[in-house]
Amino acid sequence: RTVLRELTGLIIINPNISPSEALPDTDPSVFHKRYLKMMRHLGEGHFGKVTLYLYDPANDGTGERVAVKALKQDNSQVLEGWKKEIEILKSLYHSNIVKYKGCCTELGGQAVQLIMEYLPLGSLRDYLPKRKLGVAQCLLFAQQICQGMVYLQSKRYVHRDLAARNVLVENDSLVKIGDFGLTKHIPEGEIYYRVREDGESPVYWYAIECLKENKFSFSSDIWSFGVTLYEILTRCETRLSPPNVCFDKMKEIKEEKNVMVLIKLLDTQWRLPRPKGCPHEVGMLMEQCWAAEPAKRPSFGSLIEMFEAIRQ
Ligand code: ADP
Ligand code: MG
Repeated sequence: RTVLRELTGLIIINPNISPSEALPDTDPSVFHKRYLKMMRHLGEGHFGKVTLYLYDPANDGTGERVAVKALKQDNSQVLEGWKKEIEILKSLYHSNIVKYKGCCTELGGQAVQLIMEYLPLGSLRDYLPKRKLGVAQCLLFAQQICQGMVYLQSKRYVHRDLAARNVLVENDSLVKIGDFGLTKHIPEGEIYYRVREDGESPVYWYAIECLKENKFSFSSDIWSFGVTLYEILTRCETRLSPPNVCFDKMKEIKEEKNVMVLIKLLDTQWRLPRPKGCPHEVGMLMEQCWAAEPAKRPSFGSLIEMFEAIRQ
C-alpha cells in the first residue's frame, strides 16, 4: 500500500512523466539506434564483437548500460546462424544464463544487433587472472555453470562452446553462461548433433568423439565443462591455458600442433594435468568429465550434487 501511494505521489509531483510515457505502447525489446551511445569495446570471439552502450532515450545520461553483440562481418553464410543464436538466447530464462533484452535493427539494413544485459566484470578470462580467488569460490562458479547447463539441456540444447571466455561474471558470487553462437538443438529421441567442420572450432575444449566424428551431445558438453573447470582452477593463467599446455606436450613428443596429434594424445589417455591446489575430489571429477566413453561421464545434475558436497 505504501509503495502504491509513493508511486502515485511520484506521478503527481513529476510533471515530466506524462501518462503516455508511463505506459509505453512500444515494444521494450525494440532498441533504437539513435538512442545507443557507444561507451567501450567489451570483447570479441570468432564471429561476434561485443560493445558497451548506454541506451539513453532521455538523452541526459540517465539511461541503462547494455551489451550489444554484432556480427564481425555479415556474409550470408553466418547470417543464418546469427539469427538462430538470437532466437535461442531470446528463449532462455535462467539466473545463470545472460539475459536477452532485445534487438536493434538498422533501417534498411540486414544487420541485427543483439542487446543483452551488461555484466560489469566481463568473462572469467578477464576476471580470474586479476583476483586471488579461493577454491570455494571457484567451485561455486563451477556449480552455477552446471545449473545453467541443466536448464539448457532441459530444452534439449547442446552448447558446444563451453569455455571460460564464454562465462560472464556479474559479481564475486554470480556467473552466467553467455555466447550461444554454436548452440544446437537435439531433436527428441536423438542423442547427438553432427556438424560439418568449419575449421575454426575450439578443438582444445572438444571431447574426443567431437574431434573424431563431429558428434556433439550432452556428454560432449560435460567434457568441455571439465576443461572450463580446469581453466577456473588455473585462474585462467595464460601459460596454463588448454591450448598452451597441449602445445607444450606436442613439442615434448616432437610432434606438430594439429588436431590429428591431439587425437593421438587423447587416445593414449593423456589429459590436462591437475591444477596446482586443486582438491583431490575435484581432480577426480575433472578426469571423469574426460572419460573416453561418453556414457561414463557424469551428468550436470550429479556434478551439482558433488560440488555442493565438496563445498560444505
Ligand atoms: P563470440 O561469439 O564472438 O565468441 P561472445 O558472445 O563470446 O562472442 O563475446 C565476446 C566477449 O565479449 C566475451 O568473451 C566477453 O569478454 C565479452 N562479453 C560478451 N557479452 C558480454 C556481456 N553481456 N557483458 C560484458 N561482457 C560481455
Ligand atoms: Mg565467445
